[in-house]
Amino acid sequence: MDKLVITRFAPSPTGRLHLGHAYSAVKAHDFARAYGGRFLLRIEDIDQGRSREAFVVGIEEDLRWLGLAWDGEVVRQSQRLEIYAAALERLRMEGLVYPCFCTRAEIAASAAAPHGDEGPVYPGTCRALAPAKRAERIAHEPHCWRLDMAAAIRAATPFPLGGEGRGEGLWWHDAEAGIVRAAPERQGDIVLARKDAPVSYHLAVTVDDAAQGVTDVVRGVDLFEATHVHRLLQALLNLPTPAYHHHSLLLGSDGKRLAKRTGAKSLAALRDEGVDPVELLAGLRASSPPWKGGD
Ligand code: GLU
Repeated sequence: MDKLVITRFAPSPTGRLHLGHAYSAVKAHDFARAYGGRFLLRIEDIDQGRSREAFVVGIEEDLRWLGLAWDGEVVRQSQRLEIYAAALERLRMEGLVYPCFCTRAEIAASAAAPHGDEGPVYPGTCRALAPAKRAERIAHEPHCWRLDMAAAIRAATPFPLGGEGRGEGLWWHDAEAGIVRAAPERQGDIVLARKDAPVSYHLAVTVDDAAQGVTDVVRGVDLFEATHVHRLLQALLNLPTPAYHHHSLLLGSDGKRLAKRTGAKSLAALRDEGVDPVELLAGLRASSPPWKGGD
């Protein structure tokens, strides 16, 4: 029997949806429908400082307006914090995470920090703290939890095929990029739980895609780099690896990617202008922007 295809659209409610989101939602929706599968909606509201209830309502309203129906209950990450805490605890028990007390300014000022795709790569300052010092500081100082990347890769790939501890054993299949060897090491000791939020995007998304049985992650190529980390976390937490479809991004008429911060028009604004959602949906389905990313 063929597997049941499950995709998801997983927006963060930190603003209204714009055309770039709609494009991604249509891709994930249509993929599931083409295979008679399920299309899920997950609200990624772990960042309580930036998430707004009004935007959650707006997301559902916009998807309905577009005619994209999701299956089942809407999952809210803010209601799943204990599940993420358990995943973090598992990694902690295995000695793969450590508390970090550095401020953003300290990390940015570190001359040793090369810049990765997502800002400066953490130089590892707190990795070497002695256990007693660590325990003392945890009690008094704000801290986040970081993955010890080198240790994590060793744990995930105990018998690397092509070299010592470089993650050669991990890969995923990407519909556009083909077989991709996971190279999480270039992102350094990433944050898994933040000072202001009990879990980071990387951990929550990996845990949830598995918990919801997502078979095909359809999302923008701007998240391609993140998949290297997600693949590693899947290996560490014994979670299945879905197939990935990193679609290229819808670009504005200026050739730049549509993003909230550049003031791209929201779906709500288009609706207020009297745009016909049926035509808009057809337009999104017909557009095939150029492949912009990947390795
Ligand atoms: N919540 C993420 C965002 O809004 C997307 C997560 C994902 O598709 O993996 O960009």
